[in-house]
Amino acid sequence: MIGSAQKYLDIHTHRAVSGPDVFALQSCLSSAIPETGFFSAGIHPQDAGSVDCKEFENVWNDPRCLAVGECGMDRRYPDLPKQTAVFRIQAQQAEILHKPLLIHSVRTHEEIIRAAKELAPSVPWIIHGFRGKERTLFSLLDAGFFVSFGAGLLKDAGNMEPFFSRIPAERIFFETDADGATDIRAVYALAASMRGMAVDDLCNTVRENFRRIFQ
Ligand SMILES: [Zn+2]
Repeated sequence: MIGSAQKYLDIHTHRAVSGPDVFALQSCLSSAIPETGFFSAGIHPQDAGSVDCKEFENVWNDPRCLAVGECGMDRRYPDLPKQTAVFRIQAQQAEILHKPLLIHSVRTHEEIIRAAKELAPSVPWIIHGFRGKERTLFSLLDAGFFVSFGAGLLKDAGNMEPFFSRIPAERIFFETDADGATDIRAVYALAASMRGMAVDDLCNTVRENFRRIFQ
């Protein structure tokens, strides 16, 4: 699936496409199946009130759809109970299809952790675009989550530096999300320096994480 020269893995992007040195997992927010490439598809919390999960059944079943999501909860948008219900339906779909779940969470990490404890998923749950405090991050890791970092790491490196190297390597991913200005190579370069390791070694670790949970 990943080309031998595609050393950088971008696990969540709305902009980038795969290239000679980048494997990008496109994130689709509609039920239209992309023409090419591998992707994830889900109902974003901002659309929880307006989209019917049934519309996504075809796209979720597509063999090029590797993960369900992004889905989740976000306190900036209305109706948290409805967001929770739509999130749980997608978590169940991920379980049925044996596909990882890509999660968007803004100030709802406690609710997401609670859902994980209740649903006890067998598929990996990945929090995308993590930005936040050490305590929050380690409660997610303790609960078994994978965590993906992107533009937030570039902006918040000073705050995250003291604990970034303690994140277990086998639970890390990186991403560019919707931010066209973020270069995935810059994210890896910063993360590798924060962990005191070579970029190539970090790339290999993340590709190994991907192979383990997506193939
Ligand atoms: Zn996104």
